[in-house]
Amino acid sequence: MSASSSSHGCGRPFIPLIDCPGACGSFVMKHVSSTEDHPGWVYYRCPSHGNGCNFWHWEREYVAILVNKKFLTGANVVDAIGWSEDRREELERHNEQRRSKDEIY
Ligand SMILES: [Zn+2]
Repeated sequence: MSASSSSHGCGRPFIPLIDCPGACGSFVMKHVSSTEDHPGWVYYRCPSHGNGCNFWHWEREYVAILVNKKFLTGANVVDAIGWSEDRREELERHNEQRRSKDEIY
């Protein structure tokens, strides 16, 4: 029996980059936000965004789309959703901490 079948939480789940659903023929790209409001937040965007395409989603929403369109199935769904929700909570907690610090000054 292989011991490597279950990666509990620590590893990144499989999140595929898909053809843009906007039919513009581009591949969705992964980016990391560096804005003040969302530092380190991962988002997925169509290269034609702003150029006739409006595909742009934070990671958790992107995962939901993948599940919806059946790009993720079976155990990958559970892994990806669980992971992206944990990650979102973590990022939001960071944001809240930053905000409460700002209020002190
Ligand atoms: Zn597009």
